[in-house]
Amino acid sequence: MSNEQDKALHKKRMQNQKEKVDQRIAAAQEDKGLLLVITGNGKGKSTSGFGTITRAVGHGLNAKVVQYVKGGWECGERNLLEKNGVEFHVMGTGFTWETQDKESDIKAAQAAWSYSKTLLQDPSVDVILLDEITYMVTYKYIDLDEVLAALNARPKAQHVVVTGRACHRSIIELADTVSEVRPVKHAFDNGIKAQRGIDW
Ligand code: ATP
Ligand code: MG
Repeated sequence: MSNEQDKALHKKRMQNQKEKVDQRIAAAQEDKGLLLVITGNGKGKSTSGFGTITRAVGHGLNAKVVQYVKGGWECGERNLLEKNGVEFHVMGTGFTWETQDKESDIKAAQAAWSYSKTLLQDPSVDVILLDEITYMVTYKYIDLDEVLAALNARPKAQHVVVTGRACHRSIIELADTVSEVRPVKHAFDNGIKAQRGIDW
């Protein structure tokens, strides 16, 4: 194939692709608050959730963050986003597998959930990140049916991002957009410490 033929073929392919994409864009008419789930065992769930919050704040939206599992470290996103008016509720205990105090973990989870519920009833809140909430459902620290009911009854235009491994299938069914992050490699497996600004 000559260079000219190759160029013409490429142009034709691109035109076809553009037509298809344009048709799909034209067909998508609905505006709606989305429920997004970022789950799976790979790295990138919370960073994706915080990326969405950052994107929303960049457009002047009212965003809130609830962190259901507090790490041992400070959180870079919190340092930045709080300065930009994003309110955080951080669960009072450390990693649940570190505290090993079920009663205090349940209390802290319930308090975080109670705050989340008020956000899920507030139409002035545009976007909510419920970071690591999936574990609270798995451990039954918060009630799945309550979570589903609150998500279902939230204001029509409100977006919610749920992150964490092993998201319950009922939340996945309810969601509009679901991504599963698959681990291909992780530096930690080669003895590399969690890096500031990358892992926390
Ligand atoms: P991140 O906050 O980096 O987006 P994540 O939310 O996808 O990660 P979590 O399970 O919440 O993943 O993990 C929290 C911490 O564990 C992060 O510091 C992250 O880098 C690290 N981590 C994530 N996935 C893995 C993995 N497969 N192996 C080892 N460490 C991981
Ligand atoms: Mg995470």
